[in-house]
Amino acid sequence: MNVIVKSEHFQPFQVITMDVDSLIPDQHTEKLKCIACNNYLSHFPIYISGGKHNICSRCYNSLSEKSNYVQNEAYESLAQFIHFSCRYKSEGCLEKLLPADIPQHEKNCSYRIIKCPTAEFTKCTWEGPMPHSLHHCQDKHFNIMLENGEFVVNLSSSYQCTNLLECDSTLFIVTRKFYAINKCLEFSISNIESETNRRFCCEITFKSSNKNLVITCEGREVTEIFLDSLKDQDKESTVVVAKVCVEKTNQAIPTIDETINHEFLAQFKCAVCGDYSMPPIYQDLNQPIGRQIKCSECRDKYFKFNIFGGNPNSKEMRNINLDKIANLLNFPCKYKENGCSVLAKPEQMQSHQLFCLYGKHNCPVMEYVDCKWNGFGKDVIAHIEESHQIMTLTNSTEISENISKILDDFNCCKLPNPAVHSINCYIFRFSNLLFRLNFVVVGQNFYWIVQPIGQLQGKYMYELELIDKTNAGQKVILRQPCATLKEKNNLLEQNNCYLQKNQIKSFIADDQIITFKITIFK
Ligand SMILES: [Zn+2]
Ligand SMILES: [Zn+2]
Ligand SMILES: [Zn+2]
Ligand SMILES: [Zn+2]
Ligand SMILES: [Zn+2]
Ligand SMILES: [Zn+2]
Repeated sequence: MNVIVKSEHFQPFQVITMDVDSLIPDQHTEKLKCIACNNYLSHFPIYISGGKHNICSRCYNSLSEKSNYVQNEAYESLAQFIHFSCRYKSEGCLEKLLPADIPQHEKNCSYRIIKCPTAEFTKCTWEGPMPHSLHHCQDKHFNIMLENGEFVVNLSSSYQCTNLLECDSTLFIVTRKFYAINKCLEFSISNIESETNRRFCCEITFKSSNKNLVITCEGREVTEIFLDSLKDQDKESTVVVAKVCVEKTNQAIPTIDETINHEFLAQFKCAVCGDYSMPPIYQDLNQPIGRQIKCSECRDKYFKFNIFGGNPNSKEMRNINLDKIANLLNFPCKYKENGCSVLAKPEQMQSHQLFCLYGKHNCPVMEYVDCKWNGFGKDVIAHIEESHQIMTLTNSTEISENISKILDDFNCCKLPNPAVHSINCYIFRFSNLLFRLNFVVVGQNFYWIVQPIGQLQGKYMYELELIDKTNAGQKVILRQPCATLKEKNNLLEQNNCYLQKNQIKSFIADDQIITFKITIFK
């Protein structure tokens, strides 16, 4: 190792070099050890007390009494040029590094001493070098190893468990939570070297007696997998067999580094409530910098206030560039504190939060019927079954509506207005899921909007069929994908089946009754 030393005794800019490592034989660096942990004094800053007792910063930070210690800058200015052995030398690490590189290396050293990877859920107290952890787990925790990566899910019972999985001599921790109520499996897999930025993917194959489902998920993220489609309709209970396959990818998956993600996320905090703001993001230029971003809920409150006589001089501006950055980031669910561990890009997160099982939500039909229910996402289905049976229909039921109660302009729904009652609302059951149908007539336009209550995996479609009661043999069929559940004000924003009155007037009977059928399918 060569050090450049500038000296005033020489010509300006002339330098001499010396090899510090060769000046300090190994047996001397052996003496440069911390009195507390006996590791090398290579983890800066180094502190000294009483003029001779040096301790490293690994130990200093946990000292209760720090007042006797001062930073040993004289030592540091010399020792910064010495290559020290890694503290895990006796475990097998052969690296020699400068103090500047020591903290990062020791944190990720593949020989470092770790706690048993299962410590959190088995309370095992084993500690040892990382290369021994696989052997330890095979020996002591074989009972929670997923053999060949296989596990079973009984679709009629909820459960939660954590397992180990060995793949090419690497240990993974597999965590599963299954909710029988909506057949949702929360799956996550992480490797115990999680600080090293090695990315991996895994593929899970689910099999029931007659169907297959293959899901890929990225390591360390929680993936929600809906197993409803695997249900065997003929049987009381269905047991699904799953197999996990880990693929280590050499290419980095294009995701934002976790620390950068975290730093960027901070820029999207709502100045009012502290929740994250997701696209569309607006900036309030009347506010000082740092307080310009509001989440949609706080914005809504602010604007409601405005409508009823608040400050009309708002300088609000949509910020498309912030939207673009936000769309690259993974946002935590706002119900994280209640136990939700889902991380997702804004669009998925917004629809997730609408019916996060850990969040409290209003009744999904509260804008159409008088219902004050507010409860956890996991209880929504039970609530609907209990309180809204009367508006719940089975798939493909024929519905007849009187269209004489016509809305002139859909905008009138945006203010408290008795006319909103003329938006019809039904709930459909399809397999184990619930969907809301809204039928709206606005002027000459007819809309049928079907949106899922809760979260969906995969695409669901709905088909509208107008029924010809005159027996003239006419047929109108439209199909659209089901979009996400929207509030009444935004009902018409997304896909919907839409027809104009003159296209369908022959379907409307003299008594102003129109009859139709909605079929949801996958
Ligand atoms: Zn120490
Ligand atoms: Zn090392
Ligand atoms: Zn253990
Ligand atoms: Zn807010
Ligand atoms: Zn959530
Ligand atoms: Zn309700």
